[in-house]
Amino acid sequence: MHYIIMDLEWNYAYAHKLKGFINEIIEIGAVKLNEELEIVDTFSSFIKVQIGKKLKGKVKRITNITAQDLESGKPFTQALAEFRHWVGEGDCLTLTWGDGDIRVLIDNYKYLNGISFIPFLKKYADLQAFFHKAHKLPTTTQIGLSTAAEKLEIDVSAFDIHRALGDSLLSAEIFSKSFDAELLEELTLDCDQKFYDRLSFKAYIISRLDDPDIKSEAMYCVCKICKIRAEQVDEWAYKNKYFHSEFHCKECGTDYEVRIRFKKHFDKVTVHKRYRTKVAPDESAQDDALASREVGEAPEAPANI
Ligand SMILES: [Zn+2]
Repeated sequence: MHYIIMDLEWNYAYAHKLKGFINEIIEIGAVKLNEELEIVDTFSSFIKVQIGKKLKGKVKRITNITAQDLESGKPFTQALAEFRHWVGEGDCLTLTWGDGDIRVLIDNYKYLNGISFIPFLKKYADLQAFFHKAHKLPTTTQIGLSTAAEKLEIDVSAFDIHRALGDSLLSAEIFSKSFDAELLEELTLDCDQKFYDRLSFKAYIISRLDDPDIKSEAMYCVCKICKIRAEQVDEWAYKNKYFHSEFHCKECGTDYEVRIRFKKHFDKVTVHKRYRTKVAPDESAQDDALASREVGEAPEAPANI
């Protein structure tokens, strides 16, 4: 069993076939770790651009990759065939920092090879989600690779960051330092049809009250003063991504404006609720954000919001 920790650099390119933009991969880097988490091999290759005409300024600035570098690169199909060979046939788990690279890789395979799956991918885990869980960080924000490294007191200057191999090596270091076999198993996904369906699912805000994914049990208001449920005095109305209604506490007379938003992900619905006090007996109007919480089945992988 090996761990493949992969990172990609992309360029934003106009794709005529799509009549829209695509993130075209320009570099692939990866580290292979054995079960003892030792580095046994590395992979690094530039990929010649085929879709975009030239490198975007921002990409050049961040990565220091030049047009000459890419000229020395291989076409996507060849580079990825070599990568697949390097990964090998044995049992392996691929990890990337966030699932963005996997989404981009699928898009590139579709556009350039006409296939909608990743041939070398058997099992996958999101290293960013793993890091969040391993260090009990909130899932509401997504931490970057450098910040994660700082938290572990890893000297980032020793790595060629924002380059595919450099970021892979840094990711591997973070992975080793945060390793937890049980948690990793929990986050490991088989790359079956459901895996691809999940990745292609676009999260959306639910706007209809009769949508079966609406969690009506979340549509209440508890008086902040009396800690009892307030009475709903108005119908729910949808506006600007939120359902709005008004509540009244019979006990203390406080009126509340309640806003609630439901976001549908592949296998969960997230609920975000806000209360605003309209008339408070001893305090001026205030707006309290209640922490977002998840309702429904626990996800096997975090959804990108
Ligand atoms: Zn009250």
